[in-house]
Amino acid sequence: MSRSIFARLAALGLIFIGLCALKPQRFSKPLRFETTNHQSPINQSPDWGFFAHKRINRLAVLTLPPEMMVFFKPNIDYLTDHAVDPDMRRYASKNEAPRHYIDLDNYGAPPYPDLPRQWVDALMAHTDIWAVKASGDTVLLWRGGGLQEVWQRDYKNWFSKHLMSRFYQDDETLDADSLQNFLEFMGRKERPQAAFYREHLSEHGVLPWNLQRMQRQLTEAFRQRDSRRILKLAGDMGHYIGDAHVPLHTTSNYNGQKTEQHGIHGFWESRIPELFADESYDYFVGKPEYVERTDEWFWQSVLESNKLVDSVLTFEKRLRRTFPLDRQMCPDMRSGVMSVMPCRDFAAAYQDAMNGMVERRMRAAIHAVSSAWYTAWIDAGEPDLSKMGAPVISEEERKEEQQLRKNFEQGKILGRAEEH
Ligand SMILES: [Zn+2]
Repeated sequence: MSRSIFARLAALGLIFIGLCALKPQRFSKPLRFETTNHQSPINQSPDWGFFAHKRINRLAVLTLPPEMMVFFKPNIDYLTDHAVDPDMRRYASKNEAPRHYIDLDNYGAPPYPDLPRQWVDALMAHTDIWAVKASGDTVLLWRGGGLQEVWQRDYKNWFSKHLMSRFYQDDETLDADSLQNFLEFMGRKERPQAAFYREHLSEHGVLPWNLQRMQRQLTEAFRQRDSRRILKLAGDMGHYIGDAHVPLHTTSNYNGQKTEQHGIHGFWESRIPELFADESYDYFVGKPEYVERTDEWFWQSVLESNKLVDSVLTFEKRLRRTFPLDRQMCPDMRSGVMSVMPCRDFAAAYQDAMNGMVERRMRAAIHAVSSAWYTAWIDAGEPDLSKMGAPVISEEERKEEQQLRKNFEQGKILGRAEEH
């Protein structure tokens, strides 16, 4: 008779402690050993797992037309390896994490009609403007889009000019004088000594808006025929588009933490693809398609993912109740590191219960990545990529890359935790 899962976990715990003593550097992101039936003691890996992100970028390259292939194919290893750079950056910058998700449930019910689909509008609606008075007191001038309704175009122009540039430089100060017209309108006589803003959009993720912006940047890089920048942006975009296809990247219950399903994030997007993608998924997704309105299209991907959240959670919960308990979690040894993972049969049962959802979303992601790259290239006027020089990596970039890896190995995520 097989041992109970608790006995197994206890034994693994002992092995784990032993290994810790031998190789402490490998356990910067410690395993959790939970003790309740519904929680999964899974060794969390970053989103879509490194495996799936790399596959998505690699396979996207292989669908491109010859005019693009001439440049992308020789760089396929770069695009594959760097598919996970955005996850690495989450260890280096607090601004990185929100680009990987959006908690749509924070904005009411689908299809979230009040949530602005354009980046400036959304940021404007969720940004508060503060002033510092001569006395040193700080006062809230207006909250979110309050002023926007009255001033409309003027406020948007001011916002785009004065706030957006600072936002990208991670600078929360504002030019107090530039607020004067608005203050007079509000009947405030006193000139503020200083002003600053606080935005609340990033707290809940900026995934689709970030993609809109990157699409414009990639198009511009093609226009400039800047081979280095094309590669960097294409690789990064492949990552974020992959994330947009993962249901749990669109909800605040991103790791099942609100429904006692801790660990489901890695189960869905890392464990299942690692076990089954190469051996059974149909990777043939056809040619990329030109997308007329990429800004709306990124939203579609995210909203489609969001519709699947219920199934992702419900099927796992049901299966945890019905599947033999001692066959749910199995030991897994990789690179000398022992952890426990959902067992193969259990993962297969979850995959079947969702009727192949993971495969469908991965295929959709591959097709979306190649279509985004293709669309940027077309919009840039189909530049001749065969005559571009080889991308040159500067010394500065090389150092930055080393630093990224160092931060990642040290393993402290800035911003939201690693499950997302
Ligand atoms: Zn990500």
